[in-house]
Amino acid sequence: MHISHMLIDGTSVSSRKVDTIFNPASGEPVAGVAVGGREEARLALEAAKRAFPVWSSMPAEERSEVLREAARLVRQRRDEIARLLTLEQGKPLKSSRSEVLSAADVLDYYAEEGKRNTGQWLAGPHSRSIVLRQPIGVAALITPWNYPVDLLSWKVAPCLAAGCTFVSKPPSLAPLAATEFVRAVSDAGLPAGAANVVHGPGGTVGAELVESPISRKIAFTGETATGRAVMAAAAARIKRISLELGGQSPFIVCADADLPAAAASAAHRAFSNMGQICVSVNRIYVADEVAEAFTDQLVSLAESLKIGDGMQPGVELGPMFSSQQREKTKEHVADALERGAELLAGGSEPEGEEFSRGFFFRPTVLGRADHSMRVMMEETFGPVAPIMKFRSVQEAVALANDTEYGLAAYVYTGSLKTAMQVAEGLESGGIGVNVNSVIDRQAPFGGWKQSGLGRELGRWGLEAYLETKHIRVGVWKE
Ligand code: NAD
Repeated sequence: MHISHMLIDGTSVSSRKVDTIFNPASGEPVAGVAVGGREEARLALEAAKRAFPVWSSMPAEERSEVLREAARLVRQRRDEIARLLTLEQGKPLKSSRSEVLSAADVLDYYAEEGKRNTGQWLAGPHSRSIVLRQPIGVAALITPWNYPVDLLSWKVAPCLAAGCTFVSKPPSLAPLAATEFVRAVSDAGLPAGAANVVHGPGGTVGAELVESPISRKIAFTGETATGRAVMAAAAARIKRISLELGGQSPFIVCADADLPAAAASAAHRAFSNMGQICVSVNRIYVADEVAEAFTDQLVSLAESLKIGDGMQPGVELGPMFSSQQREKTKEHVADALERGAELLAGGSEPEGEEFSRGFFFRPTVLGRADHSMRVMMEETFGPVAPIMKFRSVQEAVALANDTEYGLAAYVYTGSLKTAMQVAEGLESGGIGVNVNSVIDRQAPFGGWKQSGLGRELGRWGLEAYLETKHIRVGVWKE
């Protein structure tokens, strides 16, 4: 069986402890993973610290060349990385391929953005002030299992472009593709130790990366509860932190919306990756007068999606990532039904021998949802679309904001005025108007309220790895 090793100081590192990674579609073993602990995390941090002066002192133009080469290597190795991603995570192979390509595009983007790390020059009466942006130092990059390659690229690329070095900790149960991604980046000509991967549990490896005096910056994506623990641990040394946490994204369908477009868009964003996306559509609010027509269209789309093993061609929805994830989804559906929701589609596992060993679940649509239900207030992280009717746009905005989360929100309307009123009223880091994605490489991504702190992507993503320095130069007598 293939063993995924750690990458520390430019060398593959094995371990006495080897865990098995299982395929969520079949329960079959995929590969072994060498599991480290606090000691390996320390060694990797020390290697990153040694590499920092080498990498950070290289001209941005040269770092840009390395990032471009990294993007090329990731594209060249796309098929193998994507295959591992589908086998360990479950998503359809086509989605894995686009995830890997998107990660390569992010590397290319920051190969350019890193050259635009501009400072400022300010004139005082007797002095000149130069404001520099300099790399923070060693960064700890901690990521979840739902987009293990893409979300890591959002950290690796700006981190390296800024001149920082890093230790990454991929998710324990889906570390294979992420490790191969970092290996490709490392092979592009980075100094040994600039890019490291340590496998292991969050409670040991993750905790060491956060607590160590060596890491100056923590970039974390994961659950809000884990983010809270990371923030508390980072507080001990006042570390720079970026937190991309959970979401509970509303989708508002106004009476004047293009209904087929809205239904297709909601279905895609509620069910793709089996709803295991931080910006998934979690709650749908639809204007009373169009509720029936919209619901019918959503139900027929939910029932038309092809479920299966992500390695099979034509499959649109793979299994859920784990039995735990599926249980939580079932609990949320059962809770909603007990509280008066109506089951309109899905709600159970698909039938058939081919589904018997994987964590499959049918895309689910619930009618008559309200805010007493867990599915409307907590993060389900499953393929469930609950629908609630509203009478006025003001009511829809108030309902949408009635949550501790604030990552993404969507509105479908034919009126520019309504779109702007709703978008400005929503408490959320990203708003999609007549689109179902708030992700654009050149724009900031991140959450309000308990969905996070800081921003990734665009120039904001680069700034997250830079410190500010003011150099005051006396030029005339004061
Ligand atoms: P998780 O919080 O369980 O784990 C995330 C990572 O943190 C893993 O690598 C884990 O091993 C590590 N970790 C756990 N405890 C730690 C600790 N004490 N110190 C340091 N690291 C620790 O999240 P998950 O279940 O892997 O991912 C799903 C969650 O991620 C969902 O809540 C989802 O909304 C969120 N998410 C957010 C975004 C975003 O951009 N806002 C994107 C994707 C996923």
